[in-house]
Amino acid sequence: MAHVVKRAYKYRFYPTPGQAEELAKTFGCVRLVYNKALEERIRVREEEGRSVSYSQSSAALTEWKRTGDLAFLNEVSCVPLQQALRHLQAAFAHFFAKRARHPVFKSRKRSRASAEYTRSAFRWRDGRLTLAKMDAPLDIVWSRPLPDGVEPSTVTVSRDAAGRWFVCILVEDEIAPPPPTNVTVGVDLGITTLATLSTGEKIDNPRHEKADRRRLAKAQRALARKAKGSANRAKARLVVARVHARIADRRRDHLHKVTTRLVRENQTIAVEDLKVANMLKNRSLARAVADAGWREFRSMLSYKAAWYGRELLVIDRWFPSSKRCSACGAVTESLPLGVREWVCACGAAHDRDVNAAANILAAGLAES
Ligand SMILES: [Zn+2]
Repeated sequence: MAHVVKRAYKYRFYPTPGQAEELAKTFGCVRLVYNKALEERIRVREEEGRSVSYSQSSAALTEWKRTGDLAFLNEVSCVPLQQALRHLQAAFAHFFAKRARHPVFKSRKRSRASAEYTRSAFRWRDGRLTLAKMDAPLDIVWSRPLPDGVEPSTVTVSRDAAGRWFVCILVEDEIAPPPPTNVTVGVDLGITTLATLSTGEKIDNPRHEKADRRRLAKAQRALARKAKGSANRAKARLVVARVHARIADRRRDHLHKVTTRLVRENQTIAVEDLKVANMLKNRSLARAVADAGWREFRSMLSYKAAWYGRELLVIDRWFPSSKRCSACGAVTESLPLGVREWVCACGAAHDRDVNAAANILAAGLAES
């Protein structure tokens, strides 16, 4: 049976000079409102020992708009400013529930610039999206079609560190889960191979990633050599940001394909908890890139499993997934990282990662 889920579609777009100016101004106001409201919350907590609510922040925003210094806040759409206060409210709720760290100030340099528009602040007509305070629709590159007949509920516009513009459109979408199956699989995540399945299959990292990593290392070395505050340093930083963005884009595309296939083909998928996988200390660049990919892989698997009615088993207990023989259960004494294949005393010959994936599957099924 089909069910409705919220889905985000992200596209690049090319603003006109006027739109770019309007959005840059809006981003600046969003950041200012967020920081000012955060400052006020910290002050009230320190001086009066109480929390500030969303509606109190919102009332303060109305006051700021009336003062001469901040009257420019009236020049942009009020919706992204309200949304910034809602995000701050949510950030504090997560903090008080001990799910997140204390909210921090948004810096012009370090934070991604973005603005969120809800239904009243954009027009959606005949597949054209026009934001508040703009006359013309955005020139969006529809790299994949929006599903027919959907109505966007929220639109987020952003500009990344490489200077590229994106629009993220949230829609309600119908998902028809594939028929149930009894196929199960264990997944072992790695650095040189993205994932090894208990079936023996190895899923590679995206193409060109090795070359991109080399380019990234080179760009980072070049950046480190440039004088602080120089124009060349700013240029070098942009080069680093572009390589980073390309690696992230390719990896995300690849991860989407892999995770969709896994949840389509399997009823039950077992993976190791990332905290466990992280016990492997390796501070290389390849490792840092792989790390980000693993987190994304896990989050995609978990929401897609929910969409498709599949089961995701996460092994949160440490166990010697590589050193245990998946055939007889014996644990071998030592297995250095460089050893990719080994033979157990029982005679079973193992590929290190396939054996680990088989153990992850067995542990997942045993726990469930
Ligand atoms: Zn054995």
